[in-house]
Amino acid sequence: MSADILDTARGGGRVVSLTFDDGPNPTDTPRLLTVLRRHRITAVFFLCGEQVQAHPEVVRRIVAHGHRLGNHSMHHDDMTSWSPGRIEADLRETNEAIRRAVPDARIRYFRAPYGAWGASPAVAAALGMRPLGWRLAVGDWEPPGTDELVRRLLDGVTPGAVVLLHDGGGDRSQSVAAVDRAVPVLRSRRWRFALPAH
Ligand SMILES: [Zn+2]
Repeated sequence: MSADILDTARGGGRVVSLTFDDGPNPTDTPRLLTVLRRHRITAVFFLCGEQVQAHPEVVRRIVAHGHRLGNHSMHHDDMTSWSPGRIEADLRETNEAIRRAVPDARIRYFRAPYGAWGASPAVAAALGMRPLGWRLAVGDWEPPGTDELVRRLLDGVTPGAVVLLHDGGGDRSQSVAAVDRAVPVLRSRRWRFALPAH
């Protein structure tokens, strides 16, 4: 397992990967799952352990819809100054929380909160998780309004980009609506959606 931070989608040309952080969220994650199913997109969900503990049924729905799981730490802490041992304990605790919700879950990726990687890439790789970054963030945490999010998605995509979005951490209704609107436009411009490279 490489510790290099991956930020590219699988395949060549106009292909992008959608990733969603900070969930599961009992309101917006199910709505997002409906949108992704309607558009036939498989995405990666980076889960926070404490959210997993609060909403395990939502994790089961994510898996039932065929999406991939990533570890996004227990409490969304900045790990920049943490020792490898402290990081490892947190990542293991997060994976255990996910596996209490979905016992046979495959947890293929890790993403450090805030992209503050510190020593985490090597720790994640040693635990069998590829560090996954991103090449496009649209600031949906602000949130700036659905129209603006759609504009940022349409203007910001580049071939092979991993795209960072959020289904948790607050009201993400704008993110869900923006994905629903942007995907058909991107498809009409011959963009395809794929999982990250591996
Ligand atoms: Zn996050």
